[in-house]
Amino acid sequence: MKYNFFDIHSHFNLDSFDGDLNVVIESHKEKSIGTICVGVDKATSEKAKSLAGEHEHIFACVGLHPDNVTEEEFDTEFYKDIAMNPKVVAIGECGLDYFRIDPNDHVGKDTQKEVFKQQIELALYLDLPLMLHIRPSQNSYDAYLETLEILEEYKKENPKLKGNSHFFVGTKEIADRFLEIGFTVSFTGVITITSDYDEVVRHVPLDMMMAETDAPFVAPKSHRGKRCEPYMVEEVYKKIAELKGLSLEEVQTVFAENRKRVFGIPN
Ligand SMILES: [Zn+2]
Repeated sequence: MKYNFFDIHSHFNLDSFDGDLNVVIESHKEKSIGTICVGVDKATSEKAKSLAGEHEHIFACVGLHPDNVTEEEFDTEFYKDIAMNPKVVAIGECGLDYFRIDPNDHVGKDTQKEVFKQQIELALYLDLPLMLHIRPSQNSYDAYLETLEILEEYKKENPKLKGNSHFFVGTKEIADRFLEIGFTVSFTGVITITSDYDEVVRHVPLDMMMAETDAPFVAPKSHRGKRCEPYMVEEVYKKIAELKGLSLEEVQTVFAENRKRVFGIPN
């Protein structure tokens, strides 16, 4: 299948799509828009895998979101089993989320780190990339710095470790540390709403970045007020092209190569 645009991170597996899921999936097929449907726990990972199995233009990512580690223990056998499916292209979303927890909750942070490491081990075992969810606490880059410490340590022993930092909202320096270990970063519709990330978008080489929507969250500027859907990723491609002074076609070509290299999804 040739994709016009590809959204590397979205959630057709969440409640907001319950009412019209089939219609929405069909309209994306007609527009030749592909996406990776990302799990956040067992149930949504299972659903992502099923949707990917039923639809050529949907791929799956399975794992346990850091916000959910208090509700669910990481069941390695369960995730290993579903990740064997050929349409499962990554492990996650996993990582550290310090936005919603008490800054002094050291036990909570340690639990997140432990579960994150289990998912790194699984990704290495299956030779799959990680889909990282990293959200620092307010006015801080804490979760980025602590995630990078863990990844840099693993990378020394495991040169094959790879992945993408989803919903990137870090600095140029943080981006550089991801690039250093061969990880890409992906940007959402947020870059169409604020100019806060213009500099980092210009800084990261095109072959080390990707575009996503995180649908149903954060519709890009021209669709504000609507439920976000993967086709809106076109706005993110366009904004990246504009910021980098490139044609839309160049961005489409390089992003197709990136997707193939990182997730094994050819155009
Ligand atoms: Zn997500």
